[in-house]
Amino acid sequence: MSQHPIGRQTVVTDNIAFAAAELRLGKLIAFPTETVFGLGADALNPTAVQSIFSAKGRPSNNPLIVHISSVEHIDDLAKNIPAYARELCAAFFPGPLTLVLPKRDHIPDATTAGLDTVAVRMPDHEIARSFIAESNRFIAAPSANRSGRPSPTTWEAVFSDLNGFIDIILKGDQSRVGLESTVVDCSASHPVVLRPGSISLEDLQLVVPSSAYSTEAALLARSPGTRHKHYQPEAQVRLVGHPSEIPIGESETAAFIGISAGATTELTLVAGSVSEYAHHLFSFFRTCENRGVKTIYCETIPKNGIGWALMDRLERAASDT
Ligand code: AMP
Ligand code: MG
Repeated sequence: MSQHPIGRQTVVTDNIAFAAAELRLGKLIAFPTETVFGLGADALNPTAVQSIFSAKGRPSNNPLIVHISSVEHIDDLAKNIPAYARELCAAFFPGPLTLVLPKRDHIPDATTAGLDTVAVRMPDHEIARSFIAESNRFIAAPSANRSGRPSPTTWEAVFSDLNGFIDIILKGDQSRVGLESTVVDCSASHPVVLRPGSISLEDLQLVVPSSAYSTEAALLARSPGTRHKHYQPEAQVRLVGHPSEIPIGESETAAFIGISAGATTELTLVAGSVSEYAHHLFSFFRTCENRGVKTIYCETIPKNGIGWALMDRLERAASDT
């Protein structure tokens, strides 16, 4: 699980053609998307894909999402695609939705962690799509952070986690959504959500009414990587129902993020909506680290719409395991 340095500084660039050419040579390239920044490699090159795992310190049983620049490429990666999955594609591609489908044989085990399914996504981000199209490859990419850490929503966050461990960072603005994609298993009779994201269960049910949450047991069977530690900054994360619950006396070493006013913490971010809260969460975690904050208090919110995804990330960030 240890990281392997490349022996030199990571190059930061906005040259898409250069990054695409380097990707074809088997290099590791971080790039912006609307969810979070991804760490990309040629999905059909097992050696390049292995290097994603060693650069991140990612457990090898946690499969990667394969990124495409055009909807029809889904058929190059997956087979026996159910009609309902086509409907989800038509409704949500490009966008923050990942579909898990029966894989074609040419996809290496390194990319799918030996599973017989492949996860596919088409990002709704101009730089990401140009980079994928220009590379003329399918790009396997997890989030571009060290394993276990908060996902990066700025290129500077990628640099701070992975400088010297990856070849190139393709620059871009702060990620619009700020949380990872909704992952939906489409290998059985109806869609099953394996990871919540900004596309909510309610959104999916408008297109395919039988869409459902995964049970905990099915989740571990179908998405083994979800059992690992995730999203944790150096500061302690604690959940509160309201800023008034923050213990008196802790304000000077603490921070608060949420949607309710009233915190007297050293660092406070009150978002105007739940999606704005989600957009800022991971970059706020990193700002808190840089300021030496000891405890980050995060306001809980109702688990509907994007609130479900946000609570999933908050609960994992606050967990000890
Ligand atoms: P990350 O890109 O780091 O946010 O992680 C990718 C997510 O997609 C993880 O939650 C994986 O478990 C999930 N994933 C990728 N491929 C598959 C697959 N074939 N089956 C189930 N889940 C997958
Ligand atoms: Mg990740």
